[in-house]
Amino acid sequence: MRIMKKEGVIYTRVSSQKQVSEGNGLSSQHSACLRYANENNIEIIGSFQDAAFTGQTADRPGIHELMDFVESRAETTWVIFDDISRLSRNASDYYFIKFYLLKHGGRLICLSENLISQDPIDELKEHFSIGLAQFDRKRNQQRVNARMRERVRAGFWVFRPPIGMVFKDKLLCEDGKNSVLIKQIFNDFASGRHPTYESVKSSKIARQLINPKSLRPYKLKEDQIKRLLTNKIYVGVIDYPKWGIKGVAAAHKGFIDPRLFQRVQERIKGKGKKKYSSIGLEHFPLKGDLECGSCSQKLVAQYSTGRNKKYPYYRCNSSKAVCKSSPKSVRREVLHDEFRRLLKSARIKTELLELADRILADTFNKRSAHQRDIKSQNDLKLASLGKRREEQLEKVIAARNLSVIAKLESEIESIDSQIEALTAHEPLEDDLSAFRASGCRLLKQPDLAWEEADVTTKKLIVDFVFEGNLKVAKGRIGTAQYSLPYRLLAGKKAKSGSLVDLLVQNWNQLYPYLVRLRDLELVQLG
Ligand SMILES: [Zn+2]
Repeated sequence: MRIMKKEGVIYTRVSSQKQVSEGNGLSSQHSACLRYANENNIEIIGSFQDAAFTGQTADRPGIHELMDFVESRAETTWVIFDDISRLSRNASDYYFIKFYLLKHGGRLICLSENLISQDPIDELKEHFSIGLAQFDRKRNQQRVNARMRERVRAGFWVFRPPIGMVFKDKLLCEDGKNSVLIKQIFNDFASGRHPTYESVKSSKIARQLINPKSLRPYKLKEDQIKRLLTNKIYVGVIDYPKWGIKGVAAAHKGFIDPRLFQRVQERIKGKGKKKYSSIGLEHFPLKGDLECGSCSQKLVAQYSTGRNKKYPYYRCNSSKAVCKSSPKSVRREVLHDEFRRLLKSARIKTELLELADRILADTFNKRSAHQRDIKSQNDLKLASLGKRREEQLEKVIAARNLSVIAKLESEIESIDSQIEALTAHEPLEDDLSAFRASGCRLLKQPDLAWEEADVTTKKLIVDFVFEGNLKVAKGRIGTAQYSLPYRLLAGKKAKSGSLVDLLVQNWNQLYPYLVRLRDLELVQLG
């Protein structure tokens, strides 16, 4: 008579990384189980392990694989492990795993306990063992928690280090990579450069933060930005509200200056402040284009509530704690006069514009000739590709051999992608051959053009002439950044005779401005 061979698997678990890396634990458990299997004529057909997982939770990949494996088999599976606590150190999890395995044809062999016997004494011993394992675990946890609590009270951070910090000799210190970016984020937030969590989140700096584990950029959400900006650990102070720990001076040194941290907290507190009623752009055309030179907050537009007369003015509404600029309010007329002066100084002389026109015309011609070349070459390529495609298609229809068909199909696919690439990259450039810089009022007399424009066009003009917002400091508009056409044409450089070089070198950046300028002149300024 042939004896049915018993089939079984081995499950092992160790809880600490140290046990895993030093190699003991798992292999000694495994060899003990293997010995048992050999002695009892059980063929081992699989083994499952959880390394560095605690028995506190059933959320371990190895135990799930074990349960799936046993469930997948029609035959009885002997599940061998060296101690009850390997399955779980939590009584309810233990019984869940046990009955799940039994239900799906598992037979449990515990080397230290007889789980097969029906003897009530053995059953009681099993309850004791798992009860003891749970008790051990909880008491251990208590001890660990008490020790951790004491350490945190003494100023030592014992949890995962925050972004930008690492442990060195059990002390937090800045990592020198993310920490540099975090300093910048604090500065940008305090200065108003990125005044909201949203704008911090999408800033270039925040997107450079790299997760040291995955070596990929973090995908931070807004509430994580908030936590980062309010985390006192960066100034060397420990809060752990869950344990009632607050304001403990940390043993480590923070890398954010406490005053900078304070400024950020004040900004956060001020975020929810009520907004001022929006006053029409007809009265304050520069609203939205002016910012405080000291705190970078946009200036609001207001009327003073005088008894007889109301005075219009622009104002930085940041609190004194955030912004120490003075005066905070500037009369509307003062800033408007300044602004007209700035526009006037952007005027470009007609001779220069005429010279520029000759250069532009030359460049346009060269480019359009070049483009015509590319276009006609592309058209030729497209025609030949189209012909080739037709031919291959006909062959496919005629072919009988499957591998030949497959080869032809893949060639057609490649032809299609070439056609797609050629048509997609077909350069489409606005035709600027009729464009004359010398005919542009915005270049010749931007100040007068602004004066006469309606509210919407006024905004477009400011956008076109200046780069970024205009900064107001000490009641005046500070040095303004003009946009590229004015920088190239109105500056001293233009007179040096190198205008050709300047325009050609900056062509790629200049081109979009010229298109905008043409559209502005056509539609808005007539
Ligand atoms: Zn300010």
